[in-house]
Amino acid sequence: TVALKDVTKIFPDGTIAVDNVSMDVNDGEFMVLLGPSGCGKSTVLRMVAGLEDPTTGAILLDGDLANDLPPRERRIAMVFQDFALYPHMSVGDNIGFPLRLSKVEALARGERVADVASALGIGDVLARKPNQLSGGQRQRVAMGRAIVRRPGLFLMDEPLSNLDSGLRAELRAEISGLVRELGVSTIYVTHDQAEALTMADRVAIMRKGVLQDVGTPTQVYGRPATLYVAAFLGSPR
Ligand code: ATP
Ligand code: MG
Repeated sequence: TVALKDVTKIFPDGTIAVDNVSMDVNDGEFMVLLGPSGCGKSTVLRMVAGLEDPTTGAILLDGDLANDLPPRERRIAMVFQDFALYPHMSVGDNIGFPLRLSKVEALARGERVADVASALGIGDVLARKPNQLSGGQRQRVAMGRAIVRRPGLFLMDEPLSNLDSGLRAELRAEISGLVRELGVSTIYVTHDQAEALTMADRVAIMRKGVLQDVGTPTQVYGRPATLYVAAFLGSPR
């Protein structure tokens, strides 16, 4: 589980990026963090990952205060919008890279990489370089590299925003299916309402750093907590 308790982030220039946010993500839950550009979504994710410190408030991972825990001790996997694959490495080496860092031996690494790649439908392109792949395949490689070490928590920041709409729709289903299969708690950031409502177990909606509403897609769409949420989701009135 992840818990944010009264978390505020004020950057040195005075920008209040996250304003007193409290929320929980349960074990195995697919939580989508939704809101317009600049509302603080990435900042929340980066604090959970340990890449930014909260100014005030607490972040709990499995019940333990994580504020001072370095990123690499958090058992967290993160996928970004630009995928950030290593261009000079093969697909197999990209996926296996986190295992190499943690000194897993080559044989075990190869087996694990093959398993993950076949689960993602990219088992036949392991020898290629990233520039020899389609956008969707690159996205799958980034996912593979993220899950290869069996994370306890999966953080995704607009992982589909660089893809065309057909591929987005296809990968939405694939990502939520895969993540549910793994049973890993996930926080998935998007500014796309349809994406949020189709993928989420629960949706958390932010505006200008403030959490507006949290609930299942049916709850937030059908009974939005604020007028802003109703307008943002296009709820019937
Ligand atoms: P987007 O959908 O565009 O990615 P976001 O919801 O992820 O937006 P954040 O990146 O979390 O938004 O930014 C929230 C606010 O904090 C914005 O006003 C942004 O300009 C500001 N901000 C982010 N990083 C910094 C920083 N290092 N210093 C100062 N302000 C920052
Ligand atoms: Mg962002």
